Amino acid sequence: MKIVALAGGVGGAKLVDGLAQCLPPGDLTIIVNTADDFEHWGLNISPDLDTVCYTLAGLSNFETGWGRMNESWEVFENIIQLGGAGWFHIGDRDLATHLERTRRLKSGLQLSEITRDFCRTWGIQQTVLPMTDQYVATIVDTLELGEIPFQEYFVHQGCQPTVKGFRFEGTQTARPVPGALKAIIEADAVVFCPSNPWVSLDPILNIQGIRSALASKKVVAVSPIIGGQTIKGPAAKMFTELGIEPSSYAVAAHYSEILSGFVLDIQDGQWEEKIGSLGLKTMSINTIMKSRNDRQQLAQDVLHFIRERLIA
Ligand code: GDP
Repeated sequence: MKIVALAGGVGGAKLVDGLAQCLPPGDLTIIVNTADDFEHWGLNISPDLDTVCYTLAGLSNFETGWGRMNESWEVFENIIQLGGAGWFHIGDRDLATHLERTRRLKSGLQLSEITRDFCRTWGIQQTVLPMTDQYVATIVDTLELGEIPFQEYFVHQGCQPTVKGFRFEGTQTARPVPGALKAIIEADAVVFCPSNPWVSLDPILNIQGIRSALASKKVVAVSPIIGGQTIKGPAAKMFTELGIEPSSYAVAAHYSEILSGFVLDIQDGQWEEKIGSLGLKTMSINTIMKSRNDRQQLAQDVLHFIRERLIA
């Protein structure tokens, strides 16, 4: 069964890892958010792309969900000592990725080509696609600081400012990378990983052609909100600040026009009927992924749901 997964960083990468454990590598394509990408220390950083790739390659730090395992911090510590910016953590091994990516981008290569090559080096057999090769940036409109770039909000300000809205710079002209629309068209189903709807998946959905390619597809989302809260990150806080009660229902309603199915956590069973009333098939199961086994189990359950309830 051919699957396309849409993913942000930490939450997305966990389910991607599960799907990779269940599907033949040729059957899984992952389209990753790049609207979080930014420049830091003069380098091009692609946080979500790196999180997904490190996870698939078995190189990721399992505790944090981001960055690399067995990391050392020599450069970071020395940069701080020199008075450089220390609000975004870059370990030595991770730094190599950013240095080499930046060099290749400067030489004229596209992010998708560089990603393909890095994946080959890291032994990743699935297809990992940045959503676009062009510049796209999430701008967060905040009550206290006005409009600020995403990483300024997310890391530097620790998600503290009150969110009023979002804007995705560049999406009017950005095109999906080669192969992304074809992968969607050829897929049996598309899975929205449990990523932040506002700032991880909405940017992907705003790239030209993605929504219309999804229109004829079976699309299932896994809720990143459990019991009204996130496992990690500001998605629930964002819903609240935008005047919406955070819940798995709110996530389903956010995407309802695109979805055919919705997977919510077993703790949220009370929302199942209301989500069903949006016209979606539902499944409530454990969606908390604490171990690699949990990731595989959730992926297996999602694939079973797709097979039995969406395409049967
Ligand atoms: P980011 O770009 O690193 O913030 O990562 P994502 O947008 O991909 O993921 C953030 C979301 O993942 C948060 O809303 C979390 O609630 C969700 N998340 C993290 N771990 C899990 C998990 O084990 N299960 C579920 N259902 N959601 C999770």
